[in-house]
Amino acid sequence: MSAISTEQLLHAAYLVATVLFILAIKWLSSPVSARRGVLAGEVAAALAVGATLFNPEVVAYKWIVVTLIIGAGVGIPLGMVHMTAVPQRTALSHAFGALSAALVGISEYYVGVPHVSRFSMGEIGLEVIIGSLTFTGSLIAAGKLQEILPQRPIVYRGQNIVSLSVLGAALLLAIALVVNPANTALFPVMVAVALVFGVLLVTPIGGADMPTVISLLNSYAGFSAALLGFVLNSKVLVVAGALDGSSGFILSVIMCKAMNRSFTNVMFGAFGQIQAAAGPAAEERVVRSAGAEEAAGILAAASKVVIVPGYGMAVAQAQHKVRELYDALSKRGIEVLFAIHPVAGRMPGHMNVLLAEADIPYDKLKDMDEINGDFPQTDVALIIGANDVTNPAARTEKSSPIYGMPILDVDKARTVMVIKRGMSPGFAGIDNPLYYLDHTLMLFGDAKKFVGDLVRELAGGSGH
Ligand code: NAP
Repeated sequence: MSAISTEQLLHAAYLVATVLFILAIKWLSSPVSARRGVLAGEVAAALAVGATLFNPEVVAYKWIVVTLIIGAGVGIPLGMVHMTAVPQRTALSHAFGALSAALVGISEYYVGVPHVSRFSMGEIGLEVIIGSLTFTGSLIAAGKLQEILPQRPIVYRGQNIVSLSVLGAALLLAIALVVNPANTALFPVMVAVALVFGVLLVTPIGGADMPTVISLLNSYAGFSAALLGFVLNSKVLVVAGALDGSSGFILSVIMCKAMNRSFTNVMFGAFGQIQAAAGPAAEERVVRSAGAEEAAGILAAASKVVIVPGYGMAVAQAQHKVRELYDALSKRGIEVLFAIHPVAGRMPGHMNVLLAEADIPYDKLKDMDEINGDFPQTDVALIIGANDVTNPAARTEKSSPIYGMPILDVDKARTVMVIKRGMSPGFAGIDNPLYYLDHTLMLFGDAKKFVGDLVRELAGGSGH
């Protein structure tokens, strides 16, 4: 029997990596197996990179080592950012992934020209266009989320026509290159036009829609990598890119559905522009507020409490205090559940991850559809730093920008308590009529501090 060749070993490693990538996506879809999914993805990526390093076509390691060191130097600090900065971190990862796909495509062109076939030119052209626009688009998205760039949509007359014309120009240049791949003068122009299109694509989109845009850019980066897999004849890259591309796309669809928005509305609707005040001005309306002692008294008298976490809980890092509150209430025999809106926070699963970090039992976390029927039988809906996802205007005010978005029906609870620092709006930038209802009590303060005060009051107060 002949000995196994290096090439066969490499193919075997790629095959195992491919299977692991598929399993990783499958396992990541459930909290029970998510850790296994992360591990499988890491092992798959290490196998794919390791096997590639042993490829006999690699002749010198010097530059590979230098780039590995630079990559690790950028990647390690990026991996240590705070949880609330994960969306912009993810945008940066996509930017780098797309840049590398575009650069490999560009080098394939220059190494091959003038002998690049028309078919390869088509693959390279499409891959480089998607990679380049994803690179600049992701940088703009990261800048908006980090608030280095203005979050509001930057719009002007005829914008969509201009943007689509630029995309059309990039595609026409790619077609011209397919007709004559040796026309080297057109190639850098095509790359430049695609880079400009990435900027034009994302600047008119408001900060509130950035998570959806990032997920979409994630899918573009994945498809660009899959196309690169065809260019390089790498099956593992085709599979990993396709998985990345399709899962990013599915996630964007899920987010759009959760906000009751269409794709075109997210991409071209310039959502998040300053709204003209509708109805009575916020300052004319009165709200009722209470301190920790009164709020703790109401909670102590309840039989059922539903906690609604949102972005403010994440910013305040209040999840561990929320766990203490959960323990204090449960100890008194009060039923405590958590209502999780699919777009609460700044990324899908944001609340689930934070509450899991604080070891809150997973079976107490209820999805919106599951919990909404419970609110009329709920004594207290305690909202911690959530706003838009509880806004009843989404059900009743046709003129509201979030009209039609499914929300948590907290207003149907007997008492609503809202922990937030002031009367600032949420990410959509609109007023919330919930705060002016007769049975709503505003608990003004930082989420972590206020929840801590509630825990102290409950510990000091009498039993249920
Ligand atoms: P939100 O509407 O953005 O409201 C967060 C609230 O938290 C603010 O009103 C703010 O009020 C309060 N807050 C901020 N810091 C706080 C602190 N330290 N302590 C207490 N409160 C604090 O949040 P949300 O209800 O979670 O809604 C998420 C928004 O993001 C939605 O508009 C959603 O459509 C959008 N979005 C999310 C995703 C996703 O995947 N999750 C995707 C796309 C879009 P004060 O400043 O007055 O304290």
